[in-house]
Amino acid sequence: MKRRVALELFNTLSGKIEPLYASDGHALRFYCCGPTVYDYGHIGNFRTFLHVDLLRRTARLHGLALHHVMNVTDVDDKIIRNALAAGKPIGEYSAKYERAFFEDMDALGVEQPEQIAHATENIDGMVALIERLAAQDIAYKTEDGSWYFRIARFPGYGKLSKKDLDGIEDGARVDVDEYEKDAARDFALWKATKPGETSWQTPLGPGRPGWHIECSAMAMKYLGDSFDLHAGGEDLMFPHHENEIAQSEAATHKPFARHWFHVRFLLVEGKKMSKSEGNFFTLRDLLLKGYRASAIRFLLLSVPYRHQLNFTFDGLTESTNAVDRLRTFNDRIRTGNWLDTAPADDTLTNLIRKGDADFTAALANDLNTAEARAAIFDVLRAVNTAADHSRLSRSAAEETLALLNKFDSIFAVLEDRDADLTRTALAWAESEGRLADVSPDVLEKFGSASLTDADIDALVAERTLAKKQRNFARADALRNELLEKGILLEDSKEGVRWKRQ
Ligand code: AMP
Ligand code: ZN
Repeated sequence: MKRRVALELFNTLSGKIEPLYASDGHALRFYCCGPTVYDYGHIGNFRTFLHVDLLRRTARLHGLALHHVMNVTDVDDKIIRNALAAGKPIGEYSAKYERAFFEDMDALGVEQPEQIAHATENIDGMVALIERLAAQDIAYKTEDGSWYFRIARFPGYGKLSKKDLDGIEDGARVDVDEYEKDAARDFALWKATKPGETSWQTPLGPGRPGWHIECSAMAMKYLGDSFDLHAGGEDLMFPHHENEIAQSEAATHKPFARHWFHVRFLLVEGKKMSKSEGNFFTLRDLLLKGYRASAIRFLLLSVPYRHQLNFTFDGLTESTNAVDRLRTFNDRIRTGNWLDTAPADDTLTNLIRKGDADFTAALANDLNTAEARAAIFDVLRAVNTAADHSRLSRSAAEETLALLNKFDSIFAVLEDRDADLTRTALAWAESEGRLADVSPDVLEKFGSASLTDADIDALVAERTLAKKQRNFARADALRNELLEKGILLEDSKEGVRWKRQ
């Protein structure tokens, strides 16, 4: 019998585990703070986006439709600073990193949100929101022409992060986008133009938006004043999300997001992985060292989102082996010739069904991926043993495959795109002059990345011609040259076929 389980998640705002539901009875409307596209993302960033992907996929398993909005912060202090240093307009500077971000998301199997919203394309909405706050005297203008939010005017300030805000200084201000950990301050809604900086001419005066207003304006534009869930990494809880709530609720007098989902940090040797600590790995770094995208996905997902995950290379190797075992198992069950006449084994069938129920229940229980993963490996061991002893019936094999499909609709690691993704990373390293970062193993195995299909066809044609001219030494040299670059040639009656190793 199937247990029907509701999907429950921890809500930072209430401090409790609560059922997740779509308040319109149809689609889960949710917003996730997206990347600031000033550089390549590191795998800590991707831990957050992977768990949001997990949430999407699990909600879908529970029959919810999805309306997921993610912003791209394409104007902020860091982008302006780096673009100035590179002598480029901010749009040109950030486009490269935005493209890289979505390539990395795809490589990690992260689904695209239904809606991507760019800060620079939504300035009007931000200005309108600030004007609403100004009309209530909650937003105020300073002498330099910037606008600030007066937090003393929002009594609920601190309700998300549970900060004790006694003794906050009325009117003390902060104007940088960088995270401010401890102090509650009036924060910038609109920053007056400084020489050389990108700015917009608006009724507020010339300037650019602060970071927090962007998410409030875009979330409410696409999802309405009140919506189901808001997500981000744990560092965003304060001040970013606290400020989003303040700006939105002060303007609308309605609750902003009902449920708040925060992913704990990825650590390296006990410290948070971050650009400022300098202890970070990008996805590309790891692919060029020979680690597989699927193993990185599986590792980052295997520890539940409310636990910190300490990144180690041993962990990544373990994850590679786990993905291999799952793929080998999937191939075995899919291609094996399981006999209809094999004795029905109720114990095994019950075990597979229990694995299925445990898998679903673990995910429904605040996305407990560690237990969900364990449930699948229990089934893998039992079914492998049955297959080893010729006790696996076709019906049990089919139930196992259905469970593997369900598992993969969430974890998405069974399809093998790894070699192609590494090849793409290698081509990128080549184009960026970063071949020094490539491990010798990867160069040896994937050295053909620099050869396009047309290059290979040309070398193959040259070899065919050499053979015709009975210049066998040249033909062999060409075959070896291709082999060194990972290209295998097969001579057949129809001509020469080649494939990448
Ligand atoms: P950013 O591009 O810096 O705005 O960050 C994008 C997302 O990654 C945000 O949701 C951050 O909270 C999250 N993030 C940053 N560092 C880490 C980390 N070490 N572990 C998990 N999430 C992180
Ligand atoms: Zn945000």
